Amino acid sequence: MNLDKLKEIIDNSNNIVFFGGAGMSTESGIPDFRSSNGLFNEKLNMTFTPEQLVSHTFFIRYPEDFYSFYKDKLIYPNAKPNAGHLALAKLEEMGKLKAIVTQNIDGLHQAAGSKNVFELHGSVLRNYCTKCHAFYDEKFILQSEGIPTCTKCGGKVKPDVVLYEEGLDEDIINGAVKAIAAADTLIIGGTSLVVYPAAGLINYFSGKNLVLINKSTTSADSKANLVIHDSIGKVLSLVV
Ligand SMILES: [Zn+2]
Repeated sequence: MNLDKLKEIIDNSNNIVFFGGAGMSTESGIPDFRSSNGLFNEKLNMTFTPEQLVSHTFFIRYPEDFYSFYKDKLIYPNAKPNAGHLALAKLEEMGKLKAIVTQNIDGLHQAAGSKNVFELHGSVLRNYCTKCHAFYDEKFILQSEGIPTCTKCGGKVKPDVVLYEEGLDEDIINGAVKAIAAADTLIIGGTSLVVYPAAGLINYFSGKNLVLINKSTTSADSKANLVIHDSIGKVLSLVV
């Protein structure tokens, strides 16, 4: 592990952006939902993949089944920020890190104290009525039986999470692109970079140092100035 080199890069950077994926949260006990088994539906006599279960079509057609999978595999109310989240919050406080772009929906960066976070795929902490847009928190979803419905108008409540087949929020994408384009150092951690739009977004980076921290190799390893194959929480907490 080349920790000295990473330390030197951080010392000499003033505009760091961190781009993170599912691997960032596994150390907080949140597994990648895509690694779970699908769900067998007896009525239809077919098994849905995890991706199908969190698609827009599935939410519209089978909201009750959607919510049973969602509550089971995507919400972790007791998860706490890990050493990696805390190290990134510290870097922001020191004025070195300017933004976090994340594919995760667990809100753990904000829980650790990070302020400027672009949540590409939304957050399980926010839920809205599809009719009157009333806000509901995560607890409301967890406590509701079957399909969470709005107490004000009876509409179906939907998580503020970007489902498969849905487009990303343009303001969030633009903010993330701007932050990445302005960065002198981009640290990518806990993502294999295969999920859209990760691979595309990092092409906006034109700064000095591209750092990759991931347990396995990624498609961008050859482009990076520094590659560390280890757990993101461990690496970040050792250098910050
Ligand atoms: Zn409503």
